[in-house]
Amino acid sequence: MSEKPRTVIVGLDGVPFDMLKMFAHSSIMPNTQRLIDQGSFRPMRSSIPEISSVAWSSIITGVNPAEHGIFGFMDLVSGSYKMRFPNFQDLQVSPFWYSCPGQAVIMNVPSTYPVHPMNGVHISGFVSLDFEKSVHPPSIVPQLRRLGYRLDVDAQKAHSAMDEFLEELHASLEARIQAYRYLWDNYDWQVFMLTFTGTDRLMHFLFDAYEDPDHQHHGFFLDHFRTIDQTIGEIVDKISGDDVLIMLSDHGFERLQKDVYVNHLLASEGFLAFQPGSEPKLANISSATKAFALDPGRIYINQKGKYPAGSVSEKDKDACLKDLQQLFCSLEIDGKQVIKHIYRKQDIYAGPCLDQAADLILLADKGFNLKGSMAAEQLAGKGPFTGKHTYPDAFLLLNNKDLLRDFTDQPSVIDAGKFIKSRVSRT
Ligand SMILES: [Zn+2]
Repeated sequence: MSEKPRTVIVGLDGVPFDMLKMFAHSSIMPNTQRLIDQGSFRPMRSSIPEISSVAWSSIITGVNPAEHGIFGFMDLVSGSYKMRFPNFQDLQVSPFWYSCPGQAVIMNVPSTYPVHPMNGVHISGFVSLDFEKSVHPPSIVPQLRRLGYRLDVDAQKAHSAMDEFLEELHASLEARIQAYRYLWDNYDWQVFMLTFTGTDRLMHFLFDAYEDPDHQHHGFFLDHFRTIDQTIGEIVDKISGDDVLIMLSDHGFERLQKDVYVNHLLASEGFLAFQPGSEPKLANISSATKAFALDPGRIYINQKGKYPAGSVSEKDKDACLKDLQQLFCSLEIDGKQVIKHIYRKQDIYAGPCLDQAADLILLADKGFNLKGSMAAEQLAGKGPFTGKHTYPDAFLLLNNKDLLRDFTDQPSVIDAGKFIKSRVSRT
């Protein structure tokens, strides 16, 4: 092993600052409490929108979406209404491990599929399609298979067979821990990043179990966090005083009360229309459309020259944006305000990919979950999820009190990414 200080990053997908604090205080995560006592623990601002692909892309590059080019889980093929699935090849800025002079081990970071050759080990996180394309170097594939390593759980099972889903979640956590131990011991690494993503899966389906001590899966929920905390304890015991341990999440979570179908609102208010007799989908929108939405709350102006059925001219765009802002500002469901913030893209993004960004990005207020589905028959509904992502609500925890000196009181995922990059390039 190298004598130089090393950097360890532990990611907990979707874990809010308040939840981690509470688990640490209430002895569910005693090792995390130990770190909080010794180190520096702060709330951190997620990305906008507050989804894993966007936030982790900022954490691994230290830049905003208009620079790294990832704005959502799905995106538009430029100049069309076709949807595509951006992956690691679309990331416009190199992640930190390419500037690390030594070996890096990168495990399970979302939106890093397919893997590229690098100095060390990279196992991509969700959404990963093919095991072989998710692992570098290919020589470790047999070992990962022996350990029962899974790239992700089958979330579909949570809809039909919850017990099976939970069993899979547990098995994938155990296998990930086995794999981290194997890689920790067998590589002479300078930076090690291990991301836990079962936390996000658990909270989408079982946020109600977290809140209700009598829920049949409440114990499972807590045990998942206990197991992660034991791994954190193991890591703390293995690192030396000069090594830096960074724990962080990418966004927060809260109880989901209602899904809100933004395109349903746009259609009912005359902003969105489909070709007569056609199915309500993006490919069928007509030139009567002024705006449409993609998940979670990304609003695009149907601009002339930019899209095939574009109808809003450059000079009318601002008025259209104002009308939309007015519409979303006044949106209420059950007497509650639905939208907490509306951003114009230039308010929050800057960089060469700005043109690809949605024109407005909406953040939902408490309990509301924005959806871009085109086919919804009503404005609001309730699917199988009981938890939803939140902004700002992520956390940042470092094992050294001095390291956050230069940070603001509430750093962002971009600040965390910049810190990681500068730290790793020096090691
Ligand atoms: Zn999620």
